[in-house]
Amino acid sequence: MTRLPAGTLREALIDTDAIADNVRHVRRLTSSNVIAVVKADGYGHGAVRSAVAALAGGASRIGVADIGEALALRRAGIDAPILAWLHAPGASFTDAVAHGIELGISSMDQLVAAAAASAARPALVQLKVETGLGRNGLAAADLPTVFAEAARLERIGRLRVVGIFSHLSNTSEADDRAALARFHETLALAARLGLTPPLTHIAASHAALALPEARLGCVRIGIAMYGLSPFPDRTSADLGLRPAMTLRAAVAAVRRVPAGQGVSYGYTHRTSGETTLALVPLGYADGAPRAASGGAAVRIGGETFPVAGRIAMDQFVVDVGDRPVAVGDEAVLFGDPTLGMPPVEAWADAAGTINYEIVTRIGPRVPRREVAP
Ligand SMILES: *Cc1c(COP(=O)(O)O)cnc(C)c1O
Repeated sequence: MTRLPAGTLREALIDTDAIADNVRHVRRLTSSNVIAVVKADGYGHGAVRSAVAALAGGASRIGVADIGEALALRRAGIDAPILAWLHAPGASFTDAVAHGIELGISSMDQLVAAAAASAARPALVQLKVETGLGRNGLAAADLPTVFAEAARLERIGRLRVVGIFSHLSNTSEADDRAALARFHETLALAARLGLTPPLTHIAASHAALALPEARLGCVRIGIAMYGLSPFPDRTSADLGLRPAMTLRAAVAAVRRVPAGQGVSYGYTHRTSGETTLALVPLGYADGAPRAASGGAAVRIGGETFPVAGRIAMDQFVVDVGDRPVAVGDEAVLFGDPTLGMPPVEAWADAAGTINYEIVTRIGPRVPRREVAP
């Protein structure tokens, strides 16, 4: 029986080679440059290690949501270009510009603030345009004035427009094609106003893998680089990806109980016969969602056992029948299914969510440990 290192209660193993391989795979498949998205602590995998692994796999840039995330990567020694695209209202861009962070710009106010933050060097910006997702990005009506002003600020050396980008809804191929057509119109308008930046990009993992004409020589990859599928009907293996995270815990207690034993808060489960209950020390504080209580399962000793009763803050119980499960045995919640582990999607389905949310919400109490496969 596999056991965890002595003293380890729970951990997320992060296979950084898998991240590098996944980036390599997407680069080859798409023949495009990769912006590796490591927002939200690298979707729970650790932002710095994910960025380092992605760059080793050939990513040319790093993408994050906010400037705080970008600056943390700089402080950790990541010197590759970093793009951040979601800003606090009225934020100063001084630190970001000083550290060479590329600012995703979604309004004239942000463009002006970026130019105002340029000092020793021009601010680096990428103009984000709204093409139908309904989130941030420059509105179609504002494009002529913002593009013209960006071109003027570039001419006078206050900023450099590194890219123009947008983001898709993945609602249907028709919706994504329509957004892509709007994006091409936007790029034509930008060119007429004097902006022909080196980078244009619209595809995240979904379109990068499913809509070749959206690749544009540059794709922003999040979920796929962590080895997970953005599609409900295609697995990691179908896509040639390897899941990078394994979530596991050491069985903390076992108890032989008679029939009729209620298990966990509210007794939503009662044992149907004499059986063994094993306690797994991972709870909703650690990212095992309480909503998954009815349908989730874990792998112990090569067998899969359902969660019995409610998942609590720190722990849950599995009914292992008459199997010789012992304290210290490894209980795997999810990992790489090709290695016999449950897929993270089983937990996502049980909780009524998607794989993105499960890995991203693994809590701070779960140590991440890098592993060589
Ligand atoms: C999160 C995000 C991505 C990455 O999306 P995946 O589906 O994980 O590949 C790309 N671009 C933007 C703007 C994002 O917010």
